[in-house]
Amino acid sequence: MTTLMTSSPSFIVAIDGPAASGKGTLARRLAATLGFAHLDTGALYRAVGLSLLRAGHAPEDGAAAIAAARGLDAATVLPLMNDPALRQDVVAVAASKVSVVPEVRAALLDFQRDFANHPPGGAPGTVSRGAVLDGRDVGTVVCPQAPAKLFVTADVEVRARRRLSELRNTGAEAIYDAVLEDMKVRDARDSQRAVAPLKPAVDAFLLDTSMMDADQAFIAAMDFIRSRPAFPDFL
Ligand code: C5P
Repeated sequence: MTTLMTSSPSFIVAIDGPAASGKGTLARRLAATLGFAHLDTGALYRAVGLSLLRAGHAPEDGAAAIAAARGLDAATVLPLMNDPALRQDVVAVAASKVSVVPEVRAALLDFQRDFANHPPGGAPGTVSRGAVLDGRDVGTVVCPQAPAKLFVTADVEVRARRRLSELRNTGAEAIYDAVLEDMKVRDARDSQRAVAPLKPAVDAFLLDTSMMDADQAFIAAMDFIRSRPAFPDFL
């Protein structure tokens, strides 16, 4: 990762889209290629959901969700980000439920903005020249000033098939119809909530990966990012 002590503004790549659209894989690859820091913002909402479930609260318990979100800081969130339990579907559903609570979203905002504007470098005390953040509202709410915004999507049936093979690869038993139904419910909750719903920013580059493999999506995204006027000339 390219790191330096610098005060020049961070180049922010904001990637939004629904579950299993390919945005996470794309975000990690872009960050590695550009030497930027990467933040999976969904993991923050999953961390809140997981904390609630572990404490025995229902994910619909708004007050407990707010307390859990306010209790997360860099010291507690970073170890949780690597917890394999975060990837369970029950945690994804809990994340989607806590994420409708405005105070939960507000509590996670500063962490995300700070990461975007001062992306950590590979060594303590250093910063990266840029950041890639992926989620649902990065281009619309968290970093509306980001010079490169992408909205990555794919047909819901394609996304359900991708999710099914991911689940089966981990040894889990999964049924296509159930995965498809869960995905539709989560899409609806994420798109229809009152605060920060899932939607493309007006100036986002729309990338439909239904007919693309990961390499094709990566090339299209890189072409767009390089075309942005603010793209740093040192890259
Ligand atoms: O991206 P991922 O599937 O890990 O996100 C889990 C849930 O967290 C989403 O379904 C969504 O409800 C919520 N989320 C959000 N805003 C973000 C990222 C995720 O509301 N920026």
